[in-house]
Amino acid sequence: MTAFEELMEFQHETEALGQVAGRLGWDQETVMPRGAAAQRAEEIGALESVLHARRTDPRIGDWLAAIDDGRLDPVGAAKLRHIRRTYARATRLPEKLSAELARVTSRAQGIWAEARAADDMAHFLPVLEQVVRLKRQEAAALADGGDPYDALMDDFEPGATAAETGAMFRRMRDRLVMLRERIMGAGRGPAPLRGNFSEVGQLALAQQVAEHFGYDFRHGRLDKSVHPFTSGGGADVRITTRVVETEPFNCLYSTIHEVGHGCYEQNIDPAYALTPLGNGVSMGVHESQSRIYENQLGRSRPFTGWLFGRMNDVFGDAGAPDADAFHAAVNRVHSGFIRTEADEVHYNLHIMMRFDLERQLIGGSLEVADLEEAWNARFEHDFGVAVDRPSNGVLQDVHWSVGLFGYFPTYALGNVYAGCLNLALRAAVPDLDDQLARGHTEGATAWLKEHVQRHGGLYRPREVIERACGFAPNEGPLLDYLDAKFGALYGV
Ligand code: ZN
Repeated sequence: MTAFEELMEFQHETEALGQVAGRLGWDQETVMPRGAAAQRAEEIGALESVLHARRTDPRIGDWLAAIDDGRLDPVGAAKLRHIRRTYARATRLPEKLSAELARVTSRAQGIWAEARAADDMAHFLPVLEQVVRLKRQEAAALADGGDPYDALMDDFEPGATAAETGAMFRRMRDRLVMLRERIMGAGRGPAPLRGNFSEVGQLALAQQVAEHFGYDFRHGRLDKSVHPFTSGGGADVRITTRVVETEPFNCLYSTIHEVGHGCYEQNIDPAYALTPLGNGVSMGVHESQSRIYENQLGRSRPFTGWLFGRMNDVFGDAGAPDADAFHAAVNRVHSGFIRTEADEVHYNLHIMMRFDLERQLIGGSLEVADLEEAWNARFEHDFGVAVDRPSNGVLQDVHWSVGLFGYFPTYALGNVYAGCLNLALRAAVPDLDDQLARGHTEGATAWLKEHVQRHGGLYRPREVIERACGFAPNEGPLLDYLDAKFGALYGV
């Protein structure tokens, strides 16, 4: 066997073990008996140390040194690019730092949950200070003299830089704040849905909608969890949802969102399964798929018209007088505190603020002790409301407690990519609205599969979007879409 073949065989087994680890996590969030938590932590820990040893195995370095990249075809070269990157990151971190980060963040997550429940930021501060101190060290070790925040972001969005992302966010922020102010000043707001929507009915409709969007239940499942997520890859891609009986959009739109993630994974070229190309290429591109399914397609007037009919079929009463009122309720803009409940207009403002704050934290220009004050000032400026308590502000997200710095911007990047893809998709499928009005999404999903999803990790993240759209990704199409859609809905 050549060095390349040996490396691929080794990698294949690592990928398979990674899938097993993911399935243990899926099980923990869905069907695991309550009393199994402590043992499950041991099981996951044991598997993670096997995976860590494989990812830093010195033989990878030897194989990489022996391979002549110039002689590989594009698929082989892409596989090697992923392995080189992951190996360099894994080996650049001192063992002691990785272990301390794992230990501190697992403790910090529990303390964060307590602090959020008690609305007590002081309880969380000491451990968050430790997390930030360790993440600064990690970023410095990975950055190798470059921007430390870039080094963290690179884990989720390879190739993205803080400078470029920050400049784009600044251009977006002014337009979004203006749009928000126009909407809030319009003096009219659609009514939310009224009624009670049974869990059985919601789950049946969620299943139907998932099938309509092309999610393949022969290679997937839909279960309930506290926070919806997608797990797995290749032939086994599972999604979850949640149900609130008075708020059917919660279940429906988190299902459509996860269906976007799930279809991306299911539609990757099967030849890439259990290789470095066998998963979505970045968090940003992943989020572009979930967002375009959820928003540009799922919250469009034609599709919500079809959904209104299905709601009436299932519940006898969709909770709105007609399809237009239903569409307005789906797209209701409201100045809430919580990111995960935010509408399309507010969502990116949430992300930009977290991006700026965490970039300052990692760069050292903001200290953890001043974080809450900085958060509250920024929130009042961008959202026009004062934060009333920490659980509605700085304590709302789990990310920082588990050390996820550099992850937030990928959510907004996904929205930007979704805006670009929507523009290209509508040019390619001119009768898309007629299809959506009949509940047909095949035209959209076939285009996304062909131009984005099937490639998996073959191209670099920005390159995937640029190849699909025929232009370099930028924030223009998303902002134009938001202006047009919400301008019409609110008459502003
Ligand atoms: Zn998502």
